[in-house]
This record gives sequence, structure tokens and C-alpha cells, in this order.
Amino acid sequence: MKTAIIGGGASGLMLANMLGCEYTVIEKADRVGKKLLATGNGKCNLTNLAISPSGYNLPDEVAPFLKRFSPEKTVELFNSLGLLTTVKEDGKVYPFSECASTVLNVLRKNIKNITLSDGAVKIEKTSVGYKIFLESGKTLTAQNVVLCSGSPASGGFSAVELYKRFGHNSFTFKPSLCPVLTDKESVKGLNGIRVKASLHFGDTAQTGEILFKEYGLSGIASFNVSSLIARGNTGDMYIDFLPQLSYDEAKTVTENYSGIFHTKVHERLCERAKASNKELYEVCKKYGVTYIKNADFSLSQVCCGGLDILQFDENLESRLSKGLFAAGEALNVDGVCGGYNLQWAWSSALAVSQKINSI
Ligand SMILES: Cc1cc2nc3c(=O)[nH]c(=O)nc-3n(C[C@H](O)[C@H](O)[C@H](O)COP(=O)(O)OP(=O)(O)OC[C@H]3O[C@@H](n4cnc5c(N)ncnc54)[C@H](O)[C@@H]3O)c2cc1C
Repeated sequence: MKTAIIGGGASGLMLANMLGCEYTVIEKADRVGKKLLATGNGKCNLTNLAISPSGYNLPDEVAPFLKRFSPEKTVELFNSLGLLTTVKEDGKVYPFSECASTVLNVLRKNIKNITLSDGAVKIEKTSVGYKIFLESGKTLTAQNVVLCSGSPASGGFSAVELYKRFGHNSFTFKPSLCPVLTDKESVKGLNGIRVKASLHFGDTAQTGEILFKEYGLSGIASFNVSSLIARGNTGDMYIDFLPQLSYDEAKTVTENYSGIFHTKVHERLCERAKASNKELYEVCKKYGVTYIKNADFSLSQVCCGGLDILQFDENLESRLSKGLFAAGEALNVDGVCGGYNLQWAWSSALAVSQKINSI
């Protein structure tokens, strides 16, 4: 066997499609691509034409991969695999069907050699390559091994430990792109309400949907803030409910109009204004929220953490043990919402395929 791919998710399936050599996909779950089916609320936001390296935790490391394997190339590639795509707001790309299973179907239709329900538990170096030990007790040998095992986010697993014996370091996985747990008072009476607002955190602001939960804040703006928290950033958090208006404009509007806010949001803002002895416009422009921590892995879309990318070369081959590769979330790369994480899965898998196909 030339190549063993550990993990049949986004990066592993893309890699299998791109390899021009003998390979096998080893998958721990009872089917491939489970996480893909849940992406983009079941619609799969597969990339973003307006992608910027600054949306990732390691912009300088990710930029060369995005340049070589760009979102435009991703679209061309999926089109060549037979998937019709469509571009939505802010450059986000989806399958035309807006159905994630159609993405999974094109990715798996040409893959023949898959072992299901049997995870890799150990890898040993041999004189000609690597020996991989599976949960079932079976073993297989391969010249190259590619770790495409993703992260523990949303029911996934961590397999980065498999590379430790080869000297690879990994950063502890932490939940990211997930709800943020906050104090109870800030979200009192608001469970289930969605607003378009700006969520400020430290000196950053994320404008978009905030979904109030009884335990805190969800929605895209909160998810993007959670990735900053996961990366160790700290700062004060507040919501600007009228980000399009200045303080003076907000004062005029709130003093002269009703129907600006959902009734329950209005009640909450009035309660806060009364308790803090402030005007309504001041509270709605700067509604302080005390965050406690990010939600757990089960509610996270990705993880911050994974194998140190600096120990891999420009084709994601290990600098420590030739023939070992990694792609996707198994590496310590994570991006914001909007197609960034799948684009990393595709770009990293393509980089690996380029090297293996050249050997
Ligand atoms: C609810 C949800 C919505 C999302 N929406 C989007 C979106 O719209 N756009 C976007 O860009 N990103 C989205 N993401 C993130 C995106 O799905 C992931 O970043 C991407 O799937 C990572 O690809 P991967 O190949 O690294 O890992 P995965 O796709 O998670 O695949 C890893 C595979 O490896 C297998 N595995 C793990 N350990 C072993 C082992 N020891 N042996 C064998 N197999 C193993 C796992 O079972 C899994 O099948 C979303 C994630 C979630 C959870």
C-alpha cells in the first residue's frame, strides 16, 4: 500500500479523490463524512470567495496554502467532480442543492478502498514505511501515512497522539466556533431571540447574528468571538444593539420611536437602564455582558489546537519523519465561520496530494 489515510472526513475524502496511487481510507466511525453532513446547517458552506488569511489563527502559515489552492480552485475542483455550486452572500459558496449530502456524495463516489468502524490506534516506523495498528487488532503497512483525523469538536475524535512517538508536538484541543457561556442576568428572558447586532470583545467587534440562549450567546457573531476566547484572548464584552447608528443617532431614535427592538429585548434593555441609572440609548449601544467560558466540545464546530504546523513542510510532510503527513483540523489551524474551515481541509489535503503524487 502506498498511502494510508487516517480519517474519512472532509480532508481525507478530498485527498483520496486527488491521489493517483494506491491508497486506503481508515475510518473510526461507521460511515465517512458524518461531520460534513452537519456543515452550514445541513447546507454545507464549502468555501468563501472572499476568504482572507486574517480569518485564521495563523495567517502567515495559512496564506501560502490559500494562494496555491484557492477558493476559486475549490469551486473548479468540485465542479469537475460533478457538483453544481452557487455563490451566496459575502462570497460564501454552497452546493446548488443547498444540501450537504450532495457534497459528500461527490466526494465518496469514486473511493473504493475504505475500512469503516476501525480506528487507527498506533503507528510504528518500519524499514519501508509505517505499520498501522487498528482497534480491531488488524494491521496494515503503507509507505505514507496521512493523519486526517479532525478534532474532538461536535462528537469527533483526537488522534494527534499517534504522531507523538515521532517527536511531534500538539496544542491541546479547545472548543471553538461555539456558544459563549455568560452571566444569567444579561440573557434573562431572551432565550431563543435572534438579533442583528455587534458583539464587541476586547478591541474587536463581530457584526452579525446573536442568538440568545438561557446559558449565554450563540449565533455567528458569538461563534467568531468564541474563537478569539479559545485562542487565549481576553477583554470586556458588550453588545451594540444599534451598530449602524452613532450614540447621538441612537438617542434620537430611541427617544422618538418604538418598534426598534423585539419586545423582550426592549424590556431587558429598560431593566438594565433602570438598574444602572442610564438612558436607554446608552444601554443599547453598550450592553455589557460577562462571559464565563466557551461551551464544550459537543456544541463546537471546530477546535483550536492540534499538531504544530511548523513541524511540517510546505506540502505538510513531517519534518521529523519522512512519509508522515497531516491535513485539516488535525493541524493547529482554525478559522472563523463562513467556509474557512472546510477551505483549510481542502487546501491542506491538496498540498499533501501534490507531494504524494510526485513521489
Ligand atoms: C455543526 C458543524 C457545522 C460546520 N459548518 C461548517 C461550514 O459550513 N463551513 C466550514 O467551512 N466548516 C464548517 N464546519 C467545520 C468543518 O466541518 C471541519 O473543519 C472539517 O470537517 C474538518 O475536516 P477534517 O477532515 O479535518 O475533519 P473531519 O471532517 O472531522 O474528519 C475527521 C475524520 O477522522 C475520523 N477519525 C478520527 N480519529 C480517527 C482514528 N483514530 N482512526 C480513523 N479515523 C479517525 C473521524 O471519525 C472523522 O470521520 C462545521 C462543523 C460542524 C461540527
